[in-house]
Amino acid sequence: MRDGYGRAIDYMRISITDRCNLRCRYCMPEDIPLVPMKDILTYEEIELICRAAAQAGIRKLKVTGGEPLARLGCAELVGRLKRIPGIEQVTLTTNGVLLAENLSKLAESGLDAVNISLDTWKEDVYQAITGRDELGRVLEGIDRALEAGIPVKLNCVPQRGVNDGEWREFAELTRKKPVDVRFIEMMPIGYGKDYEPVRNEDILNQLKETYPGLEQDSSFHGNGPAVYWRLPDGLGSIGFISAMHGKFCESCNRIRLTSQGQLKLCLCYEDGVDLRAILRGTNSSEERLREAIVQAVGRKPQAHRFEEKNKVTEMKKMVQIGG
Ligand code: SAM
Ligand code: SF4
Repeated sequence: MRDGYGRAIDYMRISITDRCNLRCRYCMPEDIPLVPMKDILTYEEIELICRAAAQAGIRKLKVTGGEPLARLGCAELVGRLKRIPGIEQVTLTTNGVLLAENLSKLAESGLDAVNISLDTWKEDVYQAITGRDELGRVLEGIDRALEAGIPVKLNCVPQRGVNDGEWREFAELTRKKPVDVRFIEMMPIGYGKDYEPVRNEDILNQLKETYPGLEQDSSFHGNGPAVYWRLPDGLGSIGFISAMHGKFCESCNRIRLTSQGQLKLCLCYEDGVDLRAILRGTNSSEERLREAIVQAVGRKPQAHRFEEKNKVTEMKKMVQIGG
């Protein structure tokens, strides 16, 4: 499926809940009012939307949240999505806290890969960022996923004065384990607006000083906009997702489904289409959903305008969108 600018859109991120077991300071630092479950898409409804999306040309799905593993039955949903004709890949983004205990079910369901969000290796910093003492369970989740043969990417959001002394530890992980580590520049969505993002270029330059052998890695690494580098003896790569200082909208391939059924066209803007209303309305059908998806994709904005904060019309928090 092509958008109005000719970009091929084949990737959909699906938020299955806006609840979370952590309180990350830049995402959901405090409790937000709980959305009643009746307003959240059921797994049946998510599957129906994904079937229509696959008909429209979506090939890859990412299950996210809130914390997706905090919703019961997440692994079963992965299995259902994997069986949809046309869907080639289903992956998961998680904070990793509940990963180890869900791994065998996720592996059985055929999960293709997992992205684990981890911003620090220090227990006190982890507690300061997430409000919880769960670092040990996240580290266990990483190891269990690797043991199960599920490819792992680690996502780190750099934060000035918080984790900015730890880039080397992230790089070292790629030497010890076959894990891709990615640095994701903070975006001005929700609480992220209060941060001055660390430039990924500065992190790369620091790493180049520490590791003169660091070289660009042009091999294929998945669905996204990351630019990858590699240590000469690296088992994994080091990626940079630079939404703020290296805009990649020209190659955007994605749309997002919120847990309440809004299909979002760009992180920056609130515009979208209410697929739940179509699903729960009269005369609902896969064809009507497909048409609504194709029509909405046709008006996907050309680019974000994160550089001008007053142009960001999205008022939802990141926990309500899914990253
Ligand atoms: N709970 C899961 C997790 O943490 O991976 C999935 C949802 S979380 C919203 C998805 C990703 O968004 C996480 O990697 C998180 O660090 C990132 N994130 C949250 N707020 C952000 C912001 N303002 N800018 C950039 N990334 C952000
Ligand atoms: Fe929860 Fe993920 Fe947001 Fe942290 S980043 S509060 S783990 S949704």
